[in-house]
Amino acid sequence: MEAVHDSLTGLPNRTLFLEKTAYSVILKQRKRGYEFAVLFVDLDRFKIVNDSLGHLAGDRLLVEISTRLKACLRPQDLVARLGGDEFAILLHDIQVVEDAIEVAERLQAKITTPLMLEGREIFPSASIGIAFSTNVYNSVEEVIKDADTAMYQAKANGRAKYAIFEPDSIKPSLTFLQLDSALKRAIERQEFRLFYQPIFKLKSQRPVGFEALIRWAHPQGELLGPEQFLGQAEETGLIDSIGQWTLQESCRQLREWGQRSESILPLILSVNISKHQFYHSDLINLLRNLIEQYQISPSNLKLEITESTIMEDIQTAINIARCLRNLGVTILIDDFGTGYSSLNHLHELPIDALKIDQSFIGSIDQDASSAGFTIIQSIIGLAHNLGIEVIAEGIECARHMAWLKAFKCDYGQGFYFGEPMMAEQVVSLLATN
Ligand code: C2E
Ligand code: MG
Ligand code: MG
Repeated sequence: MEAVHDSLTGLPNRTLFLEKTAYSVILKQRKRGYEFAVLFVDLDRFKIVNDSLGHLAGDRLLVEISTRLKACLRPQDLVARLGGDEFAILLHDIQVVEDAIEVAERLQAKITTPLMLEGREIFPSASIGIAFSTNVYNSVEEVIKDADTAMYQAKANGRAKYAIFEPDSIKPSLTFLQLDSALKRAIERQEFRLFYQPIFKLKSQRPVGFEALIRWAHPQGELLGPEQFLGQAEETGLIDSIGQWTLQESCRQLREWGQRSESILPLILSVNISKHQFYHSDLINLLRNLIEQYQISPSNLKLEITESTIMEDIQTAINIARCLRNLGVTILIDDFGTGYSSLNHLHELPIDALKIDQSFIGSIDQDASSAGFTIIQSIIGLAHNLGIEVIAEGIECARHMAWLKAFKCDYGQGFYFGEPMMAEQVVSLLATN
């Protein structure tokens, strides 16, 4: 039994899974009306559980997930553990692709039930890739490859999603593993770039700072946005090296701007900090060293922490934020309004600004009685009552700008003022303002 079963979960292993799926491929070729689907299930953020709670807790989570997966399937289906936090499911003899989608939705609902591990509440989720047998398959390897590609697509769409492999809709995109090794090389070969998007003071209509936004100059010529690779980098732990690079490059650039022209400073540069970087890297020491190395004034540096990062562990977040504040850097809450802030903690956080998420700014396109207007006004009022400033992101037109100004929002950022640009363009933008 060991040879074809996984010793931790007792589930069939890769060997057995490949054998059964190969049989389905043959059956499909021989039997009219026979269809099957393969689902690749990959846990989101599993590495973080493993790193922070230990391998035993990680193992317990895997066992629990395998039980949940089995509970969602019919007796004739097969669930296997392929390795790590990767599971695969073979849906044998189904009718239409909607059957597979229904199973994927059921799996996700089941997987996301919270559980306690080492005294902490964990909210598991998984990304699922689906390959369906109407894409003519000649070998089991082709099925696996498509399910893997779709799984990667699901991860790229954000976590806890599923995606169906569709031959023409999916570009020849990198698979999960290919992206992982390409990302590692990208760090060594310095393929990352920072772009800078201006932040304007609404009252004076002048730029007061910039947000650093990462891009990946992929060797195949494409410039990839953070949405296309940061999710996976967070998953595999590479985010720490990337985040370190971003901070170092930001400090270097601040120094260069400062040396070039006295009039450029004081200019604020905002840098995004990922969840893992915030809680699990030695952020404070790194910053202290960078400030020293590049001789910059910490007050020129602002860190953007998302609301969901802060709310993950509010007490720890308050402590880290205080240490950062002691270094002299300022902190703002990014994507505000999308998480669920406990408002009674907000005043304990040493922050000096909130960024209203761009999804709210879009609601200005509707008429002035819409709920979005009320939300924007409440956030601005709340911030001002706490004595902190407000930045609106995603300002795309004069109408957005005019309303936000009327609401007494302090700062704005968006395509209306300027898209993310290269360091050179920053200098000319400041020169003309
Ligand atoms: P964010 O921090 O909320 O950044 C704002 C995003 O909105 C940027 O997308 C920006 O290009 C986009 N944007 C700006 N103005 C407009 C507008 O008028 N309309 C619309 N529709 N979009 C606008 P981008 O550069 O793709 O970054 C996406 C997210 O990736 C960022 O969201 C941030 O959370 C993350 N990110 C970017 N760079 C880094 C980094 O160096 N480190 C970390 N940890 N995260 C980063
Ligand atoms: Mg940001
Ligand atoms: Mg944001």
